[in-house]
Amino acid sequence: MVVLPELLAANETYAASFTKGDLPMPPGRQVAILTCMDARIDPARALGLEEGDAHVIRNAGGLAAEAIRSLAISQELLGTREIVVIHHTDCGMLTFTDDQIRQRLSESLGPDAAAAAAGITFQPFSDVARSVHDDLETIHSSPLIRPGTPVTGFVYDVRTGRMSPVE
Ligand SMILES: [Zn+2]
Repeated sequence: MVVLPELLAANETYAASFTKGDLPMPPGRQVAILTCMDARIDPARALGLEEGDAHVIRNAGGLAAEAIRSLAISQELLGTREIVVIHHTDCGMLTFTDDQIRQRLSESLGPDAAAAAAGITFQPFSDVARSVHDDLETIHSSPLIRPGTPVTGFVYDVRTGRMSPVE
């Protein structure tokens, strides 16, 4: 492991001056943010969030279908009342098809991986704004999301750090 020692050293520094040990569990700003795991996006800095402010749910693409479980818990148990969906330009999800990633996994990891990969869709997409729109639909139509929840969608530009709304 090459990176872990660096992470632990950084954590020592962080903890040495940490003063937020008494925050309540529910997010103070009552918002859940769903975004991609892309390493170029730092939701806390990009959106001005501090510890305790928000739930940030991340996965490959920032896809709602994979996040409904977390969003339901966020709303029902921890009081969030607003959802923001942020996908982004140059997303890795634009770069492959289900068949391609299944092939790669099969070659890298063998037949058990091929069988497992055949049973799931990796949900690649070809249009970022469209994928945001689809996610807004997925969230609005989920019976596990509170009716009337404001859900807004954006495309974040990794070159400028700026977000554009998606209708
Ligand atoms: Zn992405």
